[in-house]
Amino acid sequence: MHLICPQCKTDGITGGWSFITGQYRCANCGYVGSFVIEMDDENYHKFQEDQDDQKVEGKGD
Ligand SMILES: [Zn+2]
Repeated sequence: MHLICPQCKTDGITGGWSFITGQYRCANCGYVGSFVIEMDDENYHKFQEDQDDQKVEGKGD
């Protein structure tokens, strides 16, 4: 299971869910909130491929 940050769309969520605040924290962008995107391994790999496709644009060769 992967926890994806809804703000920066990476798996930067540390998994450090706080019992005090009930929120997750993203180590990548600093997002703090109770909502994160949960993905299993299969969906996560597809998600990463989609992200890579978007990055390829403008690569120029
Ligand atoms: Zn983030």
